[in-house]
Amino acid sequence: MTFPSDADALFGLDALGGPAAPDRPAIGTPFHASSAARHLLPVRTVYAEPAAAASPRGREVLARFPAAEVVEVASHWRIPGLHGNEDNVERWVRVKGETLVLGERKTLTTRPNGRSADFVAPGPSNGCAMACAYCYVPRRKGYANPITVFTNIGGIITHLGRHIARQGRKREPDQCDETAWVYDIGENGDCSVDALICDNTADLVAAFRQWPTAKASFATKFVNPDLLALDPRGRTRIRFSLMPAADSRLLDLRTSPMADRIEAAADFLDAGYEVHFNLSPVVLRPGWRSDWSELLRHLDDVLPHRVKQQAAAEVIMLTHNQELHQVNLGWHPRAEDVLWQPDIQQEKRSQNGAHNVRYRNHVKADALGALRGLIAAHAPWLRVRYAF
Ligand code: SF4
Repeated sequence: MTFPSDADALFGLDALGGPAAPDRPAIGTPFHASSAARHLLPVRTVYAEPAAAASPRGREVLARFPAAEVVEVASHWRIPGLHGNEDNVERWVRVKGETLVLGERKTLTTRPNGRSADFVAPGPSNGCAMACAYCYVPRRKGYANPITVFTNIGGIITHLGRHIARQGRKREPDQCDETAWVYDIGENGDCSVDALICDNTADLVAAFRQWPTAKASFATKFVNPDLLALDPRGRTRIRFSLMPAADSRLLDLRTSPMADRIEAAADFLDAGYEVHFNLSPVVLRPGWRSDWSELLRHLDDVLPHRVKQQAAAEVIMLTHNQELHQVNLGWHPRAEDVLWQPDIQQEKRSQNGAHNVRYRNHVKADALGALRGLIAAHAPWLRVRYAF
């Protein structure tokens, strides 16, 4: 595996990144203690609900960031000056790395999904230290959304255990999995980055290891070598998100370089994960077909046979959002040159009233057909689980 080492690509545009160049951790040192991890998460302030800070998981988090100032808050959900502060765009990226929130997840609900996973689990976090320009997570929480770590991981796991027991065995294969009920555990964040902060991800991987009828699943854009030690025994599916490198450099700020994500696939498979890919988001711009062809040919060239044999992909076309578009114009306008294309996009009012946009129906259908054709031509081993 290549340890994250390319400061420009890993941490985004220079002006938006932090100071030090990351390095390879010393032998025996967990990656979360490396300077690369500290570069992504130079935490200075932890907003904490008192009970969350006092819990074992809360104390573990605070011990990992001993120099951080702890600020008591009544609720993790709406912290004045932090959430919903879309005027504060100059701190858009900085706040993601320098701030953490500790809280307890009050509502433990598992939702049916049926596309990527059978169910969406109550996640162990909300928010992300990376800064993808199209990310939908900040739309839900307010515009500066650092990671909120939920400290009641025991309650989340107990809830999941009961939910899984109620399902019994999966009797019919579906697009999510042949035999296991698949639970997405990372809907509103990135579990690989969460693992830099505490053992929530490790606890979930360990729990699913013992549930023979279920499987955890999460998408990631970050290669965290610490996850290789978690021994998932095939009960966790990691989905590396892939897109042409040119799109990723422009849009996926603070994430691992595309080459690292691809190179990591075999290591994660050998460590006991099921390894799938999210081809997402597919962004339509001049040259997109040839760049996706190149990516697919590269996958075909470099992935070992054992990875290809078990791989599957989700294909997800870009959706964007009017409010996020306005915010992005304040800190990363070049991204909007490709994300905001009113000529080929249409509005889709979401259930919560947000002004989302997606490609017009015929544009989307044509593009999905074209991409399926490229996959068939360049990476025919890559089964598409679903595309939308
Ligand atoms: S990695 Fe995922 S959760 Fe994090 S900013 Fe990017 S899209 Fe959002």
